[in-house]
Amino acid sequence: MEKRVRVRFAPSPTGGLHMGGIRTALFNYLFAKKHGGDFILRIEDTDQTRFVEGAEEYIIESLKWCGIEPNEGVGFGDGRYAPYRQSERKNLGIYKIYANKLIASGHAYYAFDTTEELEEMRKRLEAAKVVSPQYNAVSRQNMRNSLTLAEDEVKKLLEQGAKYVIRLKVPRNEEIRFNDIIRGWVTFNSAQVDDKVLLKSDGMPTYHLAHIVDDIEMEITHAVRGEEWLPSAPAHILIYRYLGLEDQIPKLAHLPLILNPDGNGKISKREARFPVFPLSWKDPRESMPYIGYKESGYYPEAFINILALLGWNPGNNEELFSVEQLSQLFSFERVHKSGAKFDPEKAKWFNQQYLRAKSDHELSHLFKPILKEKGYEKDDAFMIDFCKLVKDKVQFVYEFWDHGKYIFEAPTSYDQKVITKKWNNTCGTLFNSVLITFNSVNNWTSQNINNAFEELLKTTGKIDVQLLRVLITGVAGGPQLFDMLALMGKDEVIKRLELALKINN
Ligand code: GLU
Repeated sequence: MEKRVRVRFAPSPTGGLHMGGIRTALFNYLFAKKHGGDFILRIEDTDQTRFVEGAEEYIIESLKWCGIEPNEGVGFGDGRYAPYRQSERKNLGIYKIYANKLIASGHAYYAFDTTEELEEMRKRLEAAKVVSPQYNAVSRQNMRNSLTLAEDEVKKLLEQGAKYVIRLKVPRNEEIRFNDIIRGWVTFNSAQVDDKVLLKSDGMPTYHLAHIVDDIEMEITHAVRGEEWLPSAPAHILIYRYLGLEDQIPKLAHLPLILNPDGNGKISKREARFPVFPLSWKDPRESMPYIGYKESGYYPEAFINILALLGWNPGNNEELFSVEQLSQLFSFERVHKSGAKFDPEKAKWFNQQYLRAKSDHELSHLFKPILKEKGYEKDDAFMIDFCKLVKDKVQFVYEFWDHGKYIFEAPTSYDQKVITKKWNNTCGTLFNSVLITFNSVNNWTSQNINNAFEELLKTTGKIDVQLLRVLITGVAGGPQLFDMLALMGKDEVIKRLELALKINN
């Protein structure tokens, strides 16, 4: 029988979870959904020096907002494999058991080197023009570890409680191969791999040991993570091998990077001119907060749709997918190997598509609180008509204000370019006749305003409608003119036109 699919999203609470992290969570989620499996949230908090207050809560809130909730893990599910935080799992003593197994089989060793000794080693190697100095099969021979020290000395040091780390004993020159679901066969030479620390001097495991132990204990079937972990994968393969658990290596999938719009490197939160975080994030170590997709007016459905297409394609030209559809279509075969360029303009377009799919009624509810903040309240019928009128101009709900504020507020100035270019000494009389015509419209509907205006044109000849628009709203562009005038109401239009004629005459 095929094993039940179990995947994990395993962020470290070292900061806000950015869009790349959410994309990793999403691909895990979609894969689990497609196969009726489990999607687990594990918190990898073994690096206490990088722990950031509020990061874990932020991760959970973000997944919830995106609608890609794990069914198991920190804050989710029935806790069958709990605890799901590595700092708590450390207290179970499991990591130590695995590290000791590796020591016992001779595949790991104690290293007693101090920070100063490690620094000296680095300098020595740099002076010898070693390209990337590392603790490895060669350099470890000159260091203080259980491979170079006499057995009884090691024993003594351990008994005395000397500080040590446990390192993986990586062979000097061995080929390591594995089959990545996205990249196919990947080959490394062990000379490129350092003797990774597995257990730190405070007894905490490093990521390398901890995630392997947890993936084994939590029966993870697929490890789906960012491309930045690819260089560590050979060390991980060795750890499984030395534990005698090579048959339990989850299938590995290393996702491509999300690149800057110019394709030039990874998205940087400091340089990006678009949101990078799902929700606004304030890092306690930094002074400036980062605005999120949510707070920028994106719908979570749009955000998810955008992320899904960063590094994956459906095999056709379609672009709009719900999470449900994505979870049916998703497969790693269609995940690309190369980085995916992020296009912020396209992201806005996605949001616009989701906005357009909403009813005028729903949009009016979303816009109401924004309008209220601006000091205006209107009844439902007005709001619905307003949203219908302005909808195709906006990509975000807050833009209803930018594109329609003049419907609520009489102008305080008039587009000078238009006025200078188009206003001449015949305009006073001409627009006065428009005023009289509007006044005569009994039933103030778009159609009736239009009919009356057409009638007027028969006697006056051409009237510049853009100028008319500017006189009433102050600005040169906007929604269909007569529809807008109908919505504004006759009294308001007359009042504004009278004022404009006074000012501009
Ligand atoms: N804790 C790692 C990270 O934050 C997880 C890598 C993995 O999924 O194995 O990227």
